[in-house]
Amino acid sequence: MNDIDDKLPLMTEIWEKTLSWQPKDWQQQQFQELYQQILLGNLQLNLTRITSPIDFWEKHLWDSLTGIIGLTEIETKKSIRVIDIGTGGGFPGLPIAIAFPHWKITLLDSTHKKIAFLDNLLTQLSIHNVKTLVGRAEAIGQTDSHRKSYDLALIRAVGKASVCAEYAVPLVKKGGLVILYRGHWSQEDTSHLEFVAEQLGSKIESIETLHTPISDSIRHCIYLRKYSSTPPKFPRPVGVPNQKPL
Ligand code: SAH
Repeated sequence: MNDIDDKLPLMTEIWEKTLSWQPKDWQQQQFQELYQQILLGNLQLNLTRITSPIDFWEKHLWDSLTGIIGLTEIETKKSIRVIDIGTGGGFPGLPIAIAFPHWKITLLDSTHKKIAFLDNLLTQLSIHNVKTLVGRAEAIGQTDSHRKSYDLALIRAVGKASVCAEYAVPLVKKGGLVILYRGHWSQEDTSHLEFVAEQLGSKIESIETLHTPISDSIRHCIYLRKYSSTPPKFPRPVGVPNQKPL
């Protein structure tokens, strides 16, 4: 059992070596407070099994940020609208909100209790660039206030890649980007996702293969670019994408 007084490692050199980026002191402090709040939340809610300081650093902080830092479109300082779909305990959205305080981030989850926990956490950490939203991605993707409203959509550990694409692509603007955070990935996965992405008005722009710096686990970030409107029938009604994946 980890104690909330446990300290996260700073990992300054590994941040620099792997991402050519380093958290500032206040960001390190917020990462530490985020870790403490997640440990506390875990006492009530099943937020994550990843609780040791080093695992938390690698599998939540590093993993959340590695697909984002270094993207050319984020080099610009402009504020962008980002949605994290099925955020759970706030990943990847919260580390990104801390790293990019000028971005406007929406954390979406269908579980009320998780969102209530995140609302409290945002107050505790004085994070002001994040909003939360309770709902199913299928329903939110059909509302005027969220459909084609985001520059960037992120989705990690929510389901099959084709299901994640159906949740995420309708939410981004034309020209916007979706990042699917995946573990193992194969050529067959690429072929199938190409077919699915096309139906949604997007295409696979690139696929990055990554190795996590501590445990050397494999990760893939799949970048989908939206080039035209998603047909109105997508996302299909609640439950359908999961039951009948494209
Ligand atoms: N992204 C987090 C959590 C993954 S667990 C991480 O990587 O750690 C999956 C989360 O997705 C759960 O919290 C679940 O409530 C949420 N979820 C599953 N299906 C959803 C849907 N259709 N719409 C919104 N949230 C969903």
